[in-house]
Amino acid sequence: MTGKRRPTRQIHIGQVVIGGGAPISVQSMTNTDTRDVEATVAQIARLAAAGCDIVRLAVPDQEAAAALAQIKARVTLPLIADIHFDYRLALAALEAGVDGLRLNPGNIGGPERVKAVVKAAAARRVPIRIGVNAGSLEKEALETYGGVTAAAMVASALKHVRLLEDLDYREIKISLKAAEVPLMLAAYRLMAAKVAYPLHLGVTEAGRGLEGAVKSAVGIGILLNEGIGDTIRVSLTGDPVQEVRAGFAILRSLGLRQQGIELISCPTCGRCQVNLEAVAARVQEELQDIKKPLKVAVMGCAVNGPGEARQADVGIAGGRGFGLLFRHGQPVRKVREEDLARVLIEEARRLAAEDPGEE
Ligand code: SF4
Repeated sequence: MTGKRRPTRQIHIGQVVIGGGAPISVQSMTNTDTRDVEATVAQIARLAAAGCDIVRLAVPDQEAAAALAQIKARVTLPLIADIHFDYRLALAALEAGVDGLRLNPGNIGGPERVKAVVKAAAARRVPIRIGVNAGSLEKEALETYGGVTAAAMVASALKHVRLLEDLDYREIKISLKAAEVPLMLAAYRLMAAKVAYPLHLGVTEAGRGLEGAVKSAVGIGILLNEGIGDTIRVSLTGDPVQEVRAGFAILRSLGLRQQGIELISCPTCGRCQVNLEAVAARVQEELQDIKKPLKVAVMGCAVNGPGEARQADVGIAGGRGFGLLFRHGQPVRKVREEDLARVLIEEARRLAAEDPGEE
């Protein structure tokens, strides 16, 4: 199922294409104060280095909106301004040169204001994401549908969508996030059956660390596997670089996008003679900057390791005193135990340098 995607309209966020068969993009959001230009620019540079395609920034006031122009001038990633309620902030963000808006037109205070924002967005061909969150559904939808349901979320989003369509604006993408995975799945499926706009997938307030990443991977992964979803954001409490890493791990595991290192490491067992966890952690950390798709294996023993990691481009297998460097399941040479991580990192870098892969 993974290969077949739901046909959608196509939009552009800066140079990044979303929907209509484009590769699924990975988004993140800065957690710096947008008014702090230095900190925000530095964080966006780290996100770009991690492979992030698009970054969103909160724009809570005019000062933040004014900072956008300075930030925009110093970064390469397309920027999306996250606006709530105040249409003047949307106008200021467009003026500053942002590439996308996240804003619900029903919440910015009436038709004239919606018209002003749409006119300014249309002049720049800047898409608008309608983002409905289960936690902040308006009273009307809750009453009509008897609570927070997928149908209520979809109806709420469609109301915002119609406001844009009434103005003949169709540079739209939609998100329907919920903290509960089954609810978010149902909402996206329902919406996918109703409109052809690209969908931005996410599980909101997913939490932190491993649990947050798993929750996001389940929600986003199930939908992607059904062909639904055109751009994704993993929401995690903490450093947003982790969101990007988790996003690519989801796409890689479904074969939807190949970029960077895929670490294949064994769970270890009684045969393992080395501190495999430390080696695996070092290898993964030090090779984060590689863009070329590369499968790198870190296996506990030379008895089964190379064979178990046959699909890896390059790998090491631990042993007593010495380990083994192998390529595509075939042993290449013996390596001293203390050099295993270093040799593997060098070998992976050599392979990556032959063709640096997509940027
Ligand atoms: Fe055990 Fe070796 Fe397999 Fe790792 S590679 S799980 S150490 S048999």
